[in-house]
Amino acid sequence: MKNNSRRNFLQTMGVATLALPFVPTAYGKEKNVLPDVPYDGPVLRVAIMGLGSYGTRVAEAMRSCKKAKLVGVISGTPSKIEDWQKKYDIPKKNCYNYDNFDKIKNNPDIDAVYIITPNGLHHPQCLRVAKAGKHVISEKPMGLNAKEGQEMVDACKKAGVHLLVGYRMHFEPKTLEIIRMRKAGDFGKVLFFQGLSGFRIGDPTQWRLNKALSGGGAMMDIGIYSVNGARYMIGEEPLWVTAQEVKTDHEKFKAGIDETIMFQFGFPGGATASCLSTYSMNNLDKFFLNGTNGFAEMQPSTGYGPIKAHTNKGELDFPHETHQTFQMEEMSEIILNGKQPIVPVNGEEGVKDLKIIDAIYEAVKTGRKVDLV
Ligand code: NDP
Repeated sequence: MKNNSRRNFLQTMGVATLALPFVPTAYGKEKNVLPDVPYDGPVLRVAIMGLGSYGTRVAEAMRSCKKAKLVGVISGTPSKIEDWQKKYDIPKKNCYNYDNFDKIKNNPDIDAVYIITPNGLHHPQCLRVAKAGKHVISEKPMGLNAKEGQEMVDACKKAGVHLLVGYRMHFEPKTLEIIRMRKAGDFGKVLFFQGLSGFRIGDPTQWRLNKALSGGGAMMDIGIYSVNGARYMIGEEPLWVTAQEVKTDHEKFKAGIDETIMFQFGFPGGATASCLSTYSMNNLDKFFLNGTNGFAEMQPSTGYGPIKAHTNKGELDFPHETHQTFQMEEMSEIILNGKQPIVPVNGEEGVKDLKIIDAIYEAVKTGRKVDLV
């Protein structure tokens, strides 16, 4: 592996001392984010845990990465391990299952584990990976509630490893351009955000409809995009939450599995947000931000792309890059070089979303406004 000494040095140094100042740029205008030039800097060596649908997407996207490389797998399915070994040239010594992956501690050729298993497994698996001394990237939602999320943050801190959450939109150029414009005051005083996140879920036997594995329904899976989006689009943390649930199919969406939830936030600057999370409607992937001087609209706003976005000034015309390629290049920079992303992707960021989701569920249950501060 290239530049091992630099990577080892960086890892030994710890995170805080390495934090580089962030220099704001019109990020979306950097057309050559993955320039076609040789790269000989440090490479983040990643093992993917959970070789399912999204794990496969991440692995394919990582083929184009220069700063991150798929070098290992953790899976409960031996036939998948064999396939992936061939497909991605993964040596046997970097293959684990859920019983033996603590041994990754003794493997100097793996830097980080990307957990892409059902939501209910992220917390216990993160604690084990941290204990093995490897950096953790966890898919969203990072845990089933804020308490789990905080325990993950604490465990990674104690172990001296990074904990990042797979918030791929935090690196998406059009999203970042709208954030830049909002910070520059282009929309005036921001007063309103609308987030619509949903799709029609199929197979009723899948883990997404099993409370122990999912932690909830649409809110945990897709509604989280509007929760997270409201925060990064407005650029503030909500003060309060109200929420209402609608369930049309009690057979498919059993107790604890939300089908549709409408939720609202109030922000310190006076803005409000109105959002919808659902497992019952397609074509719901839209963000709208409105201010006194302008607006931004994104549709699709968080799908795999290309994202479409326009503002009162016109269409945002940036080239599409595979989100997960971007994400893993940037996560490598964060872990190995201490880069500060424009929108955080650390464990603390994941806990903020889970605190809000906990409050949304409480608001649904009690019918009351829930204060977040
Ligand atoms: P899949 O069901 O397609 O894959 C999950 C994989 O986890 C399985 O293939 C299996 O892999 C492993 N697994 C381990 N234990 C279990 C279990 N008890 N039941 C089912 N699977 C198990 O799910 P997704 O890939 O769609 O989702 C995985 C995670 O990724 C979720 O947290 C989800 O929220 C997140 N996600 C994020 C997206 C994003 O854009 N950021 C998009 C889609 C999903 P193996 O056989 O190798 O053990």
